[in-house]
Amino acid sequence: MKKKAAICVLALALAMLTSCGDSSSSSENKKDETTKTDRETIYQVSLLQGLTLGDYNGSVSVKELKQKGDTGIGTFEGVNGELIMVDGTVYRAKSDGSIETAPDDETIPFANVTFFDSDEKQDISDVSSIADLKKLLDEKVEKLGKNQFYMVRVDGTFKKMHARSELKQEKPYKPLAEALATDQREFSWDNIEGTVVALYCPQYMKDLNAAGWHLHFVSKDKKYGGHVLELDVDKAELIIDSTQGFNMQLPDTEMFPTLDLTKDQSDDIKKVETKD
Ligand SMILES: [Zn+2]
Repeated sequence: MKKKAAICVLALALAMLTSCGDSSSSSENKKDETTKTDRETIYQVSLLQGLTLGDYNGSVSVKELKQKGDTGIGTFEGVNGELIMVDGTVYRAKSDGSIETAPDDETIPFANVTFFDSDEKQDISDVSSIADLKKLLDEKVEKLGKNQFYMVRVDGTFKKMHARSELKQEKPYKPLAEALATDQREFSWDNIEGTVVALYCPQYMKDLNAAGWHLHFVSKDKKYGGHVLELDVDKAELIIDSTQGFNMQLPDTEMFPTLDLTKDQSDDIKKVETKD
C-alpha cells in the first residue's frame, strides 16, 4: 500500500513536470510568434500633424511603449523633452540637453518605435554634415527600397553634435512651431561618443508623419542628447533595420477627434524638424 502510494505520487509528480514543460514551451512559442510580427512593425503613437497642431496630451505610457519596441524616437506629454529609446530604455533629453530615464507612468503624445534588428551594417567615417549623412542613408534606401520603413542606429564618435530640446509647455497648448519659436534650446558637443537613432518614413507618409529622416541622439554615457540639427561623424557603425509593418495608435485625447487635419502642414513640419 505504501509502495503503491509512493508510485502514485511519483507518477503525479512526473505528470506535473511534463505538463509544466508543455505549457511553458507552448507559451514560449506564442511569444516567439508575436515577437516575429512585432519585430517587423513600426509602431506610431498619433500623427506628427496632431502634435504640430498642439495636441501634446499623452495617450500611451512609457511602460506601454516599451511593449511595442526597444528603439525609437518621440516626445512626452507637454513636449517635455525629446524622447530617445535605445536598447529598451526610454530616455528624455531635457531642455538643458541633459538626459534622464523616463518614468514608466509618464505619457507620450507622439512616438515611433520598433524592435531593432540588424539587417545591414556598414562602417562610416568623416561624414561631415547631417545633409551628407542623409544623402548616404538615402542611397541605402534607394537600394533597399524607398517604400518601406527604416530604423537606423549610428553608433560611434562624433566630432560635433548639435541638438535641441524644448521647455515643457503648459495648457492651453500652442501649435508646435509657435512653442518652439521661443522655447527651443540648442546645444553643441565636441568629440562625443553615442548613438543616433534615425527613422525613415516613405514619402506616402507625409500626412501622418515627416517623410524622410528624423534623428535623435543620446551620448554613450547617457548624459546628453536631443533632436539632431547638425552633426559631424568621425567614425561610426551604421546599422539598418528594414521594416514592412506599420501600426498607428490614434490618441484618445480630448483634442484629437476634432483637430483639423485637412490642412497641409509640410512647411510647419519642416520648420520644427530642421535648422533654418
Ligand atoms: Zn525630434
